Amino acid sequence: MDFPQRLIDGYSAFADGRLQKEQDRYRELAEEGQQPQIMVIGCCDSRVSPEVIFDARPGELFVVRNVANIIPPYSPDGQAHGVSAALEFGVGALRIKHIVVLGHAHCGGVKAYAQETAPLSPGDFIGKWMQLMAPAVRKLGPMGGAESRENYLARLEQANISNSLDNLMTFPLLAKLIDKGKVTTHGAYFGVASGDLSVLDRATGDFAPIKRK
Ligand SMILES: [Zn+2]
Repeated sequence: MDFPQRLIDGYSAFADGRLQKEQDRYRELAEEGQQPQIMVIGCCDSRVSPEVIFDARPGELFVVRNVANIIPPYSPDGQAHGVSAALEFGVGALRIKHIVVLGHAHCGGVKAYAQETAPLSPGDFIGKWMQLMAPAVRKLGPMGGAESRENYLARLEQANISNSLDNLMTFPLLAKLIDKGKVTTHGAYFGVASGDLSVLDRATGDFAPIKRK
């Protein structure tokens, strides 16, 4: 069997540990279906798992992850759109109450876009995908001047979160639910090294850290 040993070991630990505590909950969720209240749009980055960061139990978070936690704008063009499908299901079927865009420090996708890294393949899927954050770059302006590269990238990662939140409002159903207060949207930023979590204050546009006990 070439199934990764790391996953076999991890599953064994889960089955002996957490599953023992959660078995009833899993059965209940199987019978009654999932009813998560919160949807998270996060990055594929292996260091930024929403279930880990938010200490989530099964059935609590409805999660979509893609390169650089991007929500593309509403595009009813007859093509397949994964994030839009998840939003449609989350809001339309599961009646999600909160949508959180979770960005993070040291995001490889944001960095590749800002530094115009050469494509990894002729398809340049990342390049095309990352162009969705062009409005965020336009808002910040180019990298340079006295600002350090690290600081610029952090600001760009945060502007990218705001850009995803702006794109949410291009979905007619969502815009209606948000206006009525039935769905609330949030931006959050995870500092990979520090473990700090900051939340977007929509009034000021700044990210303020959540105080830890
Ligand atoms: Zn990332």
